[in-house]
Amino acid sequence: MEGPRTVTAPRTIVVIGAGMGGLAAAARLAAQGHHVTVIERSAHTGGKLHAARHEGFVFDTGPSLLTLPAVYRDLFIKTGTPLEQCLDLVPVDPAFGYHFPDGSSVVLPGAGTAAAADAMQQSFGGQTGAQWQRLMERAGHMWSITRGPFLQSARPNWRTMASLATSVSDVRTIAPTSTLRDIGKQYLTDNRARQILDRYATYTGSDPRQAPAVLATIAYVEQTFGAWHISGGLSTLGQVLTQRCQELGVAFELNCAATAIDVAGDQVRAVTTADGRRFVADIVVSNTDATVLYDQLLPPGIAGKERRALTKAQPSLAGFVVLLGLAGRTPGLQHHNVWFPEHYDAEFDSIFARVPEPVIDPAIYVCAPDDATMRPDDHHESWFVLVNAPRHGDGRSGTMDWQAPGIAAHYAQHVVDLLAARGTDIRDRIVWQHHLSPADLQERTLAPGGSIYGWSSNGARAAFRRPANQSAIRGLFLVGGSAHPGGGLPLVAMGAETVAGLIH
Ligand SMILES: Cc1cc2nc3c(=O)[nH]c(=O)nc-3n(C[C@H](O)[C@H](O)[C@H](O)COP(=O)(O)OP(=O)(O)OC[C@H]3O[C@@H](n4cnc5c(N)ncnc54)[C@H](O)[C@@H]3O)c2cc1C
Repeated sequence: MEGPRTVTAPRTIVVIGAGMGGLAAAARLAAQGHHVTVIERSAHTGGKLHAARHEGFVFDTGPSLLTLPAVYRDLFIKTGTPLEQCLDLVPVDPAFGYHFPDGSSVVLPGAGTAAAADAMQQSFGGQTGAQWQRLMERAGHMWSITRGPFLQSARPNWRTMASLATSVSDVRTIAPTSTLRDIGKQYLTDNRARQILDRYATYTGSDPRQAPAVLATIAYVEQTFGAWHISGGLSTLGQVLTQRCQELGVAFELNCAATAIDVAGDQVRAVTTADGRRFVADIVVSNTDATVLYDQLLPPGIAGKERRALTKAQPSLAGFVVLLGLAGRTPGLQHHNVWFPEHYDAEFDSIFARVPEPVIDPAIYVCAPDDATMRPDDHHESWFVLVNAPRHGDGRSGTMDWQAPGIAAHYAQHVVDLLAARGTDIRDRIVWQHHLSPADLQERTLAPGGSIYGWSSNGARAAFRRPANQSAIRGLFLVGGSAHPGGGLPLVAMGAETVAGLIH
């Protein structure tokens, strides 16, 4: 087993933001022997990974599905005791119940593309099982081609990717100009199976009609390496990672917002905070959103190329969350549940429109963990309900005002009513209810507009427009959903590993 890499000249490092990317970088850098301070503007660590509690009901308010736990296993083993000694990692099986407007549904297992294909065959008939299996084989090839050169590389671009694709057949496998929708149509004849595939575009906050075909790897990864839950909720992962950082000597400054990064020449020197303190730093790792970094924290007039690149990237979609504490238990409920609408494309038309509006008939996702530590007793359920939503803003550049009087409360009720219309009426079982709009997410985590994943993957070049992990400013590094390789728990921790590898 490889131990932590130690350095001969420890650096003073300030990490801005205690999201999962920031925490993962802090732990690795401290394990390498550096002096690390994490500055976090809110009262808690974990960023978007957070929980809400009410009289025995516990809800994850951010991530509810953990995929590719190997990334966190690696992080924990490289920084101390193994992950499984710190928390209870639970495979979710069955994982997903998908429901369709024609009344049909399919329950998919937690792991195994062949088992998923079997389940689809039994529910959808036709050739769906064999088609899904062939698609997943292709996605598996895509995964092995792109994982190292793209996900685990600090600054991938078209040229490096082209040189690393060792054969014409690799390029054909990736099909760089095809969309996720294209590849779904190529392999799948059943519209329901296509919708399941399309939905994986939303795991990167994107529109399946514009996101690249290579996002089929998300389905492959989920079905091959499994869907995972953590006892007590996924927010536990943030808690144990914070604890790991503390054990390694990382200092935390909570309720402390970074307001400026001081740069002398082209080298970072310090971070100034809202309470007037100045943290001298050899290295700054920014876990705040990249637009906040370049527009608010860095002095004007530098990093022009990086600022210009950001203006070309399209932000990820946002999310509207409803938390429901329910009396009684729901028959047939899975850990993850999706109710698809009649016209799935209308969701993406609404969200990515120039003048967007709340989706009238969205796909509704419900996470209802069968976890005794997340409900008052066995006669109650805690539901996290998520629908995709346009970003919050002043109505310009593809945003809408989620703070307009009554709009969020009205929309929360609309989502609950829609569930009833789709056959799951829980309205008379609600004992506690709360909603979080994209405006709330922006307020809590500084995610601009409440974007869930930083940037979307819409467009063939989107993946290369994300800011690289190493800035042109010496000593400045970026981690988190708005930097390479993108959002989601596994990817932000992969970005942190890359950053730790760049800092000696
Ligand atoms: C509703 C929702 C559902 C999701 N579902 C999933 C899922 O099921 N699976 C999955 O893998 N991912 C999911 N995600 C995405 C996942 O949460 C994120 O990609 C990941 O947690 C982001 O981590 P990050 O490192 O970018 O940091 P963030 O979580 O964005 O945290 C950044 C931190 O920086 C702090 N900060 C910002 N500016 C400053 C400043 N100036 N000074 C000090 N501190 C600052 C913020 O307060 C925050 O704590 C979901 C996200 C949301 C919102």
